[in-house]
Amino acid sequence: MENCIFCKIANGEIPAATLYEDEDFRVILDLGPASKGHALILPKSHAANIYELSDELAAKAMILAKKMAVKMTEALKCDGFNIVQNNGETAGQTVFHFHMHLIPRYTGDGVGLTWTPGTLTDEIKEEILTKMNA
Ligand code: 5GP
Ligand code: ZN
Repeated sequence: MENCIFCKIANGEIPAATLYEDEDFRVILDLGPASKGHALILPKSHAANIYELSDELAAKAMILAKKMAVKMTEALKCDGFNIVQNNGETAGQTVFHFHMHLIPRYTGDGVGLTWTPGTLTDEIKEEILTKMNA
């Protein structure tokens, strides 16, 4: 992808603070961090979102996310850890090259990743189960 900033960063054409690199991925520090150590897992090959990501890279990305969570938690002494992955503008995606957010959490950090819980009604539950099993 010619004009994709994350393709350029992942492949080393634009420098970024790199926490980890292998043949498939680069993990970089986010320039607008939600918390200290907020990082992004970027595949080196372009996929706009999870729908375009290969099964192979999806599996590898999850394993890498786990490894990074363990290493970062030890190194940064954080108290918790969020892994966030946005798909589509409606879901908050702003860079359209698949990435996973690694967000170390610190007690009292005020990072807002929460929502107001609704209620699962029987009607909605049945509707969703019908649609998903169609
Ligand atoms: P999204 O909203 O698409 O899930 O997340 C995009 C993330 O990329 C944001 O957290 C934003 O701060 C980060 N970001 C955008 N451009 C750059 C950049 O050029 N370099 C780095 N390191 N992070 C970026
Ligand atoms: Zn890209």
